[in-house]
Amino acid sequence: MIREPLTMFCHADLTGAVRGKGVPTRLVERRLTSGVGWTPTNLMFTAFGTIAPSPWGAHGDLMLMPDAATKVEVDFGDGTPAERFYLCDLTETDGSRFDCCPRTLLREAAAALLEETGLSLRVAFEHEFIYSGAQSRTADNYALDAVRRHGAFGETFLAALSAAGVETDSYLAEFGPGQFEVTVLPSEPMAACDGAVILKEMARATAWRLGHSLSFSPRLSPEGLGSGVHIHFSLWDKDGRPVSYDAGASQGVSEKAGSFLAGIVRHMPALCAFTAPTVVSYLRLKPHTWTGAWSNIGYRDREAGIRICPVFGKSEEKTAGQFNFEFRAADATGNPYLQLALIIRAGLAGLAQALPMPTPTEGQDPEEMGEAERQARGIVRLPDSVDAAHAALDADAAVQGFLPPRLLAAYVANRQAEFALGRDWSPEEICRRYAEVY
Ligand code: GLU
Ligand code: MG
Repeated sequence: MIREPLTMFCHADLTGAVRGKGVPTRLVERRLTSGVGWTPTNLMFTAFGTIAPSPWGAHGDLMLMPDAATKVEVDFGDGTPAERFYLCDLTETDGSRFDCCPRTLLREAAAALLEETGLSLRVAFEHEFIYSGAQSRTADNYALDAVRRHGAFGETFLAALSAAGVETDSYLAEFGPGQFEVTVLPSEPMAACDGAVILKEMARATAWRLGHSLSFSPRLSPEGLGSGVHIHFSLWDKDGRPVSYDAGASQGVSEKAGSFLAGIVRHMPALCAFTAPTVVSYLRLKPHTWTGAWSNIGYRDREAGIRICPVFGKSEEKTAGQFNFEFRAADATGNPYLQLALIIRAGLAGLAQALPMPTPTEGQDPEEMGEAERQARGIVRLPDSVDAAHAALDADAAVQGFLPPRLLAAYVANRQAEFALGRDWSPEEICRRYAEVY
């Protein structure tokens, strides 16, 4: 049959969904500079495709302006149409800044960090997901046989990732039935967020071609296991030197990194409105599930809100280059650009105030500490519901100020409309609904 190759111009919306418009691939060149038209109210789609009360209504126009560096062209070699798309900024029709564009928010946060401190971040998003074609069995955790029995999925997915410019660090069968994890190499913030979007699309593209599906939803069943997004980051100076590590400091955390972490810890409850943004997020984010339900910095602790990760270098130089932190209270129902932009802004606020690092926990469970000790260490239980997360956001003027007012208002209106849809859903229903979408 005849075919006209199609290239999509997309962006990740406020719910993290990738939406856009296509043009014939032979006409892409022209569109790389002119972009394609878009509708502002599309930002008000909830995760379930309903439209939240929109400040734009039926009015106005925007452009999807592609970033040529994000070009994805992946031919799976099975006769299906190649995956062809670009990730875009949302701009006004004359190409000027649109204040509700998540990519723009991230670009400006990274630029502010560099301008105000001379520092930049290297970031890697680590994803977990559940694959329907896994033929899972009891005790599949980390099993070689689980990787074998999920057939062509893993190798095809990794090949698609590599062809799309995302380099895999490791791939494994995770703890849950049918659950897998993929880690990628670190890169600068924009490339890391673009990579997170591309990774989820390549995973879905692979599963679809194999006649299966997969889900990045934080919980597929109330009693099941969670799938998280762990956001790894480290600080670097203008000369490309790592600055997170100080061999002489407690747990190796440099003063600068300590202040950056302190800023994140201070604002973490409000950040959850973006990093764990849906009703189903809170079926995952519970103590003793290896997720990060407290605002603690934990030394090599997978229960901590922020984990000081292990390093495997033998020399101090190697250690400094590998040293990184992991924000664990995040999942794939969020928009990665918003998530990272706000983490950067919170860290920058900590640096600007030279906040001292709260003493990291080392082998201690915040739940078992008394309230007095938690208070002394600045540890709070992170929100246990979307309502608690939004109450924390309401109470944190600094985090509100990290976003342009119109973006904040649009985001909150979008979330509230989505929460209203699910008010009467049982935990099972919540899991089922979000699994369909994510
Ligand atoms: N599945 C856990 C989560 O929901 C993380 C397990 C781990 O890799 O430490 O975040
Ligand atoms: Mg994992």
